[in-house]
Amino acid sequence: MMEAALGIQMDEPMAFSPLCDRSQADGSLKKYEQNFKLPGVKRDIEKLYEAIPQLGNVFKIKDKIGEGTFSSVYLATAQLEVGPEEKIALKHLIPTSHPIRIAAELQCLTVAGGQDNVMGVKYCFRKNDHVVIAMPYLEHESFLDILNSLSFQEVREYMFNLFKALKRIHQFGIVHRDVKPSNFLYNRCLKKYALVDFGLAQGTHDTKIELLKLVQSEAQQQSFSQNKSHVITGNKISLSGPAPKDLNQQPITKASVKRPYTNAQIHIKQGKDGKEGSVGLSAQRSVFGERNFNIHSSISHESPAVKLMKQSKTVDVLSRKLATKKKTISTKVINSGVMRKTASSCPSSLICDCFATDKVCSICLSRRQQVAPRAGTPGFRAPEVLTKCPNQTTAIDMWSAGVIFLSLLSGRYPFYKATDDLTALAQIMTIRGSRETIQAAKTFGKSILCSKEVPAQDLRKLCERLRGIDSKTSKLTSEIQGPASHNPTLSEEIDHKASHIHTPQAQHSGSSLHKGDSNGCFNEDTINLEGWDEVPDDAYDLLDKLLDLNPASRITAAAALLHPFFKDMNL
Ligand code: ADP
Ligand code: MG
Repeated sequence: MMEAALGIQMDEPMAFSPLCDRSQADGSLKKYEQNFKLPGVKRDIEKLYEAIPQLGNVFKIKDKIGEGTFSSVYLATAQLEVGPEEKIALKHLIPTSHPIRIAAELQCLTVAGGQDNVMGVKYCFRKNDHVVIAMPYLEHESFLDILNSLSFQEVREYMFNLFKALKRIHQFGIVHRDVKPSNFLYNRCLKKYALVDFGLAQGTHDTKIELLKLVQSEAQQQSFSQNKSHVITGNKISLSGPAPKDLNQQPITKASVKRPYTNAQIHIKQGKDGKEGSVGLSAQRSVFGERNFNIHSSISHESPAVKLMKQSKTVDVLSRKLATKKKTISTKVINSGVMRKTASSCPSSLICDCFATDKVCSICLSRRQQVAPRAGTPGFRAPEVLTKCPNQTTAIDMWSAGVIFLSLLSGRYPFYKATDDLTALAQIMTIRGSRETIQAAKTFGKSILCSKEVPAQDLRKLCERLRGIDSKTSKLTSEIQGPASHNPTLSEEIDHKASHIHTPQAQHSGSSLHKGDSNGCFNEDTINLEGWDEVPDDAYDLLDKLLDLNPASRITAAAALLHPFFKDMNL
């Protein structure tokens, strides 16, 4: 085998962390910020009224409830119809978001949303390049706060309702790509759930969401990256404008990768009644949001070595030693078999001499970069996303749901806290086994090299140990162990077993041990132990099927709902 390429250096600063993710760790600002409006929040609210004066006629904006790189979400009240005031969530998208991206997000909400635990949309406002999506407000818990106080039955209900939402969007050919607790709102008291945030969504090949066809893949984005003007009226889309330079022929710099849509125009008109300014979009942008186009966006965070490789534009896959103190595992992903033809532009007569080493040879440096969507949050990314498999399906959302389930069963969140994709992959190996991961990757055309073999873990034993249940006596021992901060981290625990491997750094959600929910319908001081002493095998069987390393055999949302774990639950 001759393909090999690797590069990212160890010990570089973290580019991603679930805690410094684009939205707050759990999607909502801290309580003190909610209760006492910070001057900054007040200013932002005033600015929003100024940006879209129409909002002031309809809403009273009360507070900011979420802030990320790509949007700010506000709580507002409105007297929309006769009756009591309604609570509304206003999502203000950053003005640099690309119009097609915004329109696609909106179309996911309008077409698939409004039922089966998928958030719907009430209105959309626009003035110039400011767009606000108005949705029904669902008060929700912070996942971390309630994680360890949920009863086992609540966990079942949570997962069941998540699958209901995923089944719905998958039926429409929507791949959410960012399934995680802060995007699945949960009102514990009302037992209400809502999947939100289609800002990274992509379409399957047969998606029913027309606009997702335009944001389907990085490859398409590149071929679509022609400075054309897009005019969308209802379902019709017409393109015009000057042809662009091919992205591949430009030096890859942050500016150049943001160029493709420069000068793009989009006009979206809704039906007969669509009034300009209330549902339409029309914007000239000089930059576009990096969501979904972020394959290159991390360049500035990366080490000089990576920059060099990316600038050469020829590295098809990356490999790195894990950023571990012990530095004893190195991982490398290469294209193999089926991928070779398409991914490699290297003359076959040249034999690579860096295979199984941690260097990148000049032959490998001359390879074409492989393009595959990578958006999302590292700890929730499926193996096929981490290895840049170009053919990604709705199965990637099921993996993310599996990671949520793993958190719920183990009481650790975030479960995987990776600095980069290959670290994340190695963390997955510590749970699912290195041999198994390598084997599965072969099925989607990737070869993974791993310096050390680590066995797969028994999911029940792992979760029980992390949760603090003594399986022999079936007793919850976490309280006896004292403050969570004194509990071994997951990383330490697994390090002990698989001695040299850097592992997930999830923390016990200790702060939540004695907390109730924010809605005041649960006692602040109780942990609901009900059911945790006898978690059925079905739970771990479902977890195993969600964390199936092979996307082709991974359980679907529709099948998950029919799994024996949910036997007495109604669809
Ligand atoms: P982003 O793209 O910035 O992540 P999201 O759509 O995920 O934006 O919203 C960010 C946060 O705002 C969510 O995690 C949630 O806490 C809050 N939020 C979003 N929509 C609603 C809603 N309809 N009701 C209540 N809160 C919401
Ligand atoms: Mg979000």
